[in-house]
Amino acid sequence: ASFGLPTLEKETNSRENNVAKIKVVVRKRPLNKKEVSRKEDDVVSVSANSLTVHEPKLKVDLTAYVEKHEFCFDAVLDQQVTNDEVYRETVQPIIPIIFQRTKATCFAYGQTGSGKTYTMQPLPLRAAEDLVRLLHHPTYRNQKFKLWLSYFEIYGGKLFDLLSERKKLCMREDGRQQVCIVGLQEFEVLDVQIVKEYIEKGNAARSTGSTGANEESSRSHAILQLVIKKHNEVKETRRNNNNNDSNEKGGKVVGKISFIDLAGSERGADTTDNDRQTRMEGAEINKSLLALKECIRALDNDQLHIPFRGSKLTEVLRDSFVGNSRTVMISCISPNAGSCEHTLNTLRYADRVK
Ligand code: ADP
Ligand code: MG
Repeated sequence: ASFGLPTLEKETNSRENNVAKIKVVVRKRPLNKKEVSRKEDDVVSVSANSLTVHEPKLKVDLTAYVEKHEFCFDAVLDQQVTNDEVYRETVQPIIPIIFQRTKATCFAYGQTGSGKTYTMQPLPLRAAEDLVRLLHHPTYRNQKFKLWLSYFEIYGGKLFDLLSERKKLCMREDGRQQVCIVGLQEFEVLDVQIVKEYIEKGNAARSTGSTGANEESSRSHAILQLVIKKHNEVKETRRNNNNNDSNEKGGKVVGKISFIDLAGSERGADTTDNDRQTRMEGAEINKSLLALKECIRALDNDQLHIPFRGSKLTEVLRDSFVGNSRTVMISCISPNAGSCEHTLNTLRYADRVK
């Protein structure tokens, strides 16, 4: 029986580890109503896997001209590309190898309003559907594998459980590259529909302050993890005591995929703001995005030393950067002329990690 998963089966059987270790994808969103009503120009043109930013500039004598910036990536997704296509391009090829000890991370990077949450939101649901189908596949169905979900955020360098009343969490390392987030709630995914509810519940719990929900959530990194564990019922208790890949929910981690909706990239520049709190948060975001870039570059160069300690974000993701890891960076960009500078910053960041 094919279980309606022809591509996944083929991947499982033949491709195994042929999936690129690091993949950098850019997604352009359409102009929104406000930008259209302001008659803003769309300054980003896409052609195959490259794109050009047409930056409007002024000479010293105030005559207008356009400076062109061209970039090339593993894939460039134009504005008409659907979330389903984004899933197939970015996450789906990794799903089969999650069962083969892979730890994968998928990031959404970009300025606030560029489409990070729009892009990231549906991905865990689609991934969970495929993971659950593979759990029932003849290859795995007798292996006592289970799928678990957790969702937390990093705000101002601190961890909060988004599925447990924003309970503050702390991280522990065992010195053997294993990261444990103490107290993080994990939920077994028996029915895929529940994933949607968890995502909604978690999103509602994301930092909301006096300045409004979107403003605040743009200052935090949201991390949703789907983890496949192998459960050995007889030896469960002993395993828990001895095995560092285990936690209170039991089972040994087989593989996992983390979906990370990063803080707005422009927030890292809030380091000169008048408000002390904003300044500190800006510095923290700046530090974490820089550290992330350094870690991905180190991974790409197969460096033995990966600079995890640069930030809380990279420390938390430490075990996803060692061994058999896969990284997908989805850089989201706004097409309007007014966002040109941020768009170029995002593309330069993406260019550095590819
Ligand atoms: P971010 O999370 O980066 O701040 P959002 O995901 O909240 O940005 O997107 C900002 C707005 O743009 C939202 O209203 C969203 O629905 C819309 N949007 C983003 N990307 C797309 C897209 N590819 N197609 C259509 N609308 C989009
Ligand atoms: Mg967002």
